Amino acid sequence: MSVAMQTSSSQAKAWKMYIDGEWVEASGGKTYRVPNPATEELLAPAPDASREDMRRAIAAARRAFDEGPWPRSTPQDRARVLRAIADAMEARKEEMRELLIAEAGACYVSHDTQVEWPIRHLRNYADLALSFPFEQMLPRSTTDTPMGSWLNNSMVHNAPVGVCGLIPTWNFPVFVIAQKIGPALATGNTMVIKPSPYGPLINLWLAEVIEEAADLPRGVINWVTGQGAEISQELVSNPAVDKISFTGSIAIGSQILAAAAPRLRRVHLELGGKSAHILLDGQNLDMVAPGLTSPAFFHSGQGCAMGTRVLVPRAIEEQAIEKMAGFVGNRDIVKIGNPADPSVLMGPVIREERRRAIEGYIESGVKDGARLITGGKRPAGLDTGYFLEPTIFAGVKNHFKIAQEEIFGPVVAITAYDDLDEAVRIANDSDYGLAAMITGTDQIQAVEVAKRLRTGSVWINNAGNMSHGPFGGFKLSGIGREGGMWGMHEYCEIQHIAWKS
Ligand code: NAD
Repeated sequence: MSVAMQTSSSQAKAWKMYIDGEWVEASGGKTYRVPNPATEELLAPAPDASREDMRRAIAAARRAFDEGPWPRSTPQDRARVLRAIADAMEARKEEMRELLIAEAGACYVSHDTQVEWPIRHLRNYADLALSFPFEQMLPRSTTDTPMGSWLNNSMVHNAPVGVCGLIPTWNFPVFVIAQKIGPALATGNTMVIKPSPYGPLINLWLAEVIEEAADLPRGVINWVTGQGAEISQELVSNPAVDKISFTGSIAIGSQILAAAAPRLRRVHLELGGKSAHILLDGQNLDMVAPGLTSPAFFHSGQGCAMGTRVLVPRAIEEQAIEKMAGFVGNRDIVKIGNPADPSVLMGPVIREERRRAIEGYIESGVKDGARLITGGKRPAGLDTGYFLEPTIFAGVKNHFKIAQEEIFGPVVAITAYDDLDEAVRIANDSDYGLAAMITGTDQIQAVEVAKRLRTGSVWINNAGNMSHGPFGGFKLSGIGREGGMWGMHEYCEIQHIAWKS
C-alpha cells in the first residue's frame, strides 16, 4: 500500500480510547496530532485524555479486579483469550504492518521484531498460562509440642498482583506492550495501558483487535492515550494501582520509582542502554561489518539494547573502521527513505525534537575530539521527514559523552582496546547494564568474556537475539525481567497458604 493511501485511510478513522468496555473520546473531545515521521503529514488525531479520563480507567480496572471474575479465571480461560488475541493479530497482520510503518517509521528489515515477535510472545504466554506453577505444594513437615504433634501442609499460591499500570514506549510498540499484556493477562491481572504520546494509534488498533477477539470482562483492559505527562503521573501515583510496568528512560523511570515509594507500589522498570559490542578478532571483517554497524541504521538506532559502543582490537582498528564505514556509506545497501518502500533500510527518527537531541550528541562528539568517520548530517535530498545519516565516530574515549550517554539515534562510537581485560573494563565502565554483544570466531572464549560483563543479556555473534528468555537490566538499565517465565513472576504476588492436619 502506498504512503498516501495509508495516510488517507488512517485520517478517515476517528480513533477512540477503550475504558470500562466502551469506546470513548477524551473528555471534551480533545485530540492531538500524530504525524508520520517520514512525511511529517498528519497520520490521524489521537484522543488526548485528561486526568479524569485516567481516573475512570483506573476505577474500572479496580472494579474488574475486586468484583469481576477475571482474577479467578482458570489457566485454560486465560490461554484461550491469549490465543484468540494472537490469532486475530495474525489475521490482521498487514494492517499492523502498515500502521507500524506509518506511525513508528518501521522499515521492513525490522518487521520480524516489530510484527512477528509480538504474536509469538502472546502464543508463548498462552502456553505458559497452562504450564505456570500457580499452585505448588511444599513438602509436608511435622510440629512436635508437649500438647501433641501434627502435620503441616502448605502450598505456594502465585496470586495476581492486582491493577497494573502499563506504560510502554514507542520504538517497538507492539513488541513492548505484548511483553506486558501477555504475562499480565496470563496471571489474572487487570490493567490500564498508557501508550507513549508518540505511538497511540498502534495501541488503539491493538485495543480494537483485543476487543473483537477476546471475550474479556469489562474493565480488565483499558487504554488511555494522551500527550501530557499528567495522565502518566495519575497512573503512577493513584492508590488504586498495585503495580507499574514502565519501559522508557532512566530519568522518568526514577521519577516513577519515587512516586511509588510512599505506598511501596510494585515497580518494574525496563530502561535504556549503552551497550558495548566487543569484536574479538579480525577474521571476516566484511561479514561482521553489518552487525557491528547495525545501530547506525537499524530502526535509526532507536533501540534500547543496541551495541552502540564498538570495541575493536587496536591491531585491526583501521581495517575495522574502513569496513564499517564502507558498509554504512554504501547507499545501494543502506538506502535511506520512507519505510513504506521495502528496499529502504533506514527510516526517520521519531520526531524533530529527538533529531535535534541526536544532533546535539554528534556536535559533542566532534567537540570532544572524536573522529567523525561517516555521516553526522541530514541526508541530502530528504528535506521532509526526520531523517539523519548513519553516523560513525572513531577514536572515542570511554569518558566522552557519546560513549557514556544513550543517544537513541543512529550513532556508533568505535573505541580501540589493547587486551581483553581492557575490553571488559571499558564495556563495564557504564551506568547502564542492559545488553552486550561479542563477535568472534572462538565461541568458548566469547562465553568466558560474556560471563565477565555486567549486563542482563549478552549476544554472541548476533546483534540482538530474540527469544522467550529473560530480558532486563543490571545497574541503571532497570529493575525486573520481561519475557517467558520470568515475565510471569513479575505479575504475581507470592502467597503461602498453610494448614494443619
Ligand atoms: P521516556 O522516558 O521519555 O518516557 C516517556 C513516557 O513517560 C511517556 O509515556 C510519558 O507520558 C511518561 N511520563 C512522563 N513523565 C512521567 C512521570 N513523571 N511519571 C510517569 N510517567 C511519565 O522514554 P521514551 O522516549 O518513551 O523511550 C525511550 C527510552 O526507552 C530509551 O531510554 C530506551 O532505551 C528505553 N527502552 C527500553 C526498553 C527495554 O526493554 N529496556 C525497550 C525500548 C526502549
